[in-house]
Amino acid sequence: MRRFAVPFALAFTAALAACASGPQRPASVSQAPAPQGPPRLIVAISVDQFSADLYAQYRPRFAAGLARLAGGAVFPSGFQAHAATETCPGHSTLLTGTRPARNGIIANNWYDLSVSRAEKKVYCAEDESDPASTPRDPVVSAVHLKVPTLGEMMKAANPATRNVAVSAKDRAVMMMGGHTIDAAYWYNKGAFVTLKGRALAPAAVAQNADLAALLRKGAPAFAAPAWCGASDSAVSVGKGQLGTGRFAMEPNKPDALRISPRMDAATVDLANRLVDELNLGQGAAPDVLSVSLSATDYVGHATGTEGLEMCIQMAELDKTIGRLLDHLDARGIDYAVVLSADHGGLDMPERQREQALPRAIRADMNLAPQALGKAITARTGISAGEGPLVYSDGVFGDYYISRSVTPAHKAEAVKALVALTRGHPQVAAVFTAEDLAKTPLPTGNPQDWSLKDRARASFDPARSGDVVVLLDRAVTPIPEAIPGMYVATHGSAFDYDRRVPMLFWRRGMRGFEQPAPVETIDIAPTLAALLGLRVPEGTFDGRCLDLDAGNGNTCENLR
Ligand SMILES: [Zn+2]
Repeated sequence: MRRFAVPFALAFTAALAACASGPQRPASVSQAPAPQGPPRLIVAISVDQFSADLYAQYRPRFAAGLARLAGGAVFPSGFQAHAATETCPGHSTLLTGTRPARNGIIANNWYDLSVSRAEKKVYCAEDESDPASTPRDPVVSAVHLKVPTLGEMMKAANPATRNVAVSAKDRAVMMMGGHTIDAAYWYNKGAFVTLKGRALAPAAVAQNADLAALLRKGAPAFAAPAWCGASDSAVSVGKGQLGTGRFAMEPNKPDALRISPRMDAATVDLANRLVDELNLGQGAAPDVLSVSLSATDYVGHATGTEGLEMCIQMAELDKTIGRLLDHLDARGIDYAVVLSADHGGLDMPERQREQALPRAIRADMNLAPQALGKAITARTGISAGEGPLVYSDGVFGDYYISRSVTPAHKAEAVKALVALTRGHPQVAAVFTAEDLAKTPLPTGNPQDWSLKDRARASFDPARSGDVVVLLDRAVTPIPEAIPGMYVATHGSAFDYDRRVPMLFWRRGMRGFEQPAPVETIDIAPTLAALLGLRVPEGTFDGRCLDLDAGNGNTCENLR
């Protein structure tokens, strides 16, 4: 068999019919010749909270963009292998090829008790050295990301590369784009906004005009596909009911727009406009377009994963991704796609309990930092005076002991905190920073890692808590369900939150399915090899995945 010297120089005409079998594949795709040489545009799609479970559940239903991507290289068990399965850490792995333990993005929020401002909580994508920044209203920045992204590496190799990132979420944009972004847009209260000190591009101005018109008018409910019927069933949650929503939107409700398939549609519309305005994929060097679609996550948080709401979201997501790919086709761009997710997710416990998972529960408020601080004081007499003794961004994860106590008291408080949390029936494991610092970085198959390995992959000695608490399986860390607020979430160290699909696609490619576990840190080295990008040894924690289904090897270009 001949070997292919150039990645993806795949004249697989014989295989075209086989891989061109998506139900609604546009004729132009299957008739176009297979491209030669490195792609001109990398399209990196993140579907926020798109678990491997959701992908498996809806895969037979996909007929548009997601059906096309299923004709490429499909890795149904991609791992966000670390313990803190949140949006910022998850997005930080996708295009850097590094784990949070190395890139520094250990969580969405952490505490830095040394910062001079009164608020000690630090948001992953803020620059807290700017006095205007707060975790809730951040001055958006990638300053906390310790490594470069693929787009930055491409720009370093050839400054003509454009690095563009869009999402509803600022943290997704910054973690996929990194420090040197040519265009960066996210959604804030009804409009797309950009980095401080930058003007909106005409594409964003036009998109915001469309958004404003939509918000003024409102929008009717979505029609549900017939195959959503089984999920169309109400479940009681707190004082209300969920499970039958169809996203009818009253006028002037930017949050209703955000928590609906319309958010992804607007994000892709903006991406398409930027493709046109910047002529992405048609410049002097390969470009990167990162598109993080947040609506799956917002819908999952607001309504859980197994109701009519998510079923409609999945159907619309498929169409929306199809529109993005069709737009690139229409412009004749030679692009390669990767699609993955920042983390998985879990349905709300109220529906889980009705559907054969009786152990599903909500976390106990006694795991909140205020309650644990009081319990430590009661046990040891140690107090931080005016301020809190324990800091934490919720009822699990990183816990920090106040700096206002003596080192001896801090050690005693850590001991008490460990004893209190280890003894709690909802807790699976507790580690001290001291434990984790001594633990080697995990290697090998991520599905076999211990809980300590998973916590180690999320550990940064300067940013992590003094104590790290991992909740047990199916404990939802939202103590009270209030409809209209978040009712379901992710963030655990278990595989329902760690496993995500990883799909690679390029026109003319011969598809294959590889069910063995891979990691999201493998995406960047895989794309770097496709591009023929030379990077220093040791740049990535992940490995290159050979996307040639035959004897060729798309990784041979990676040094
Ligand atoms: Zn997320």
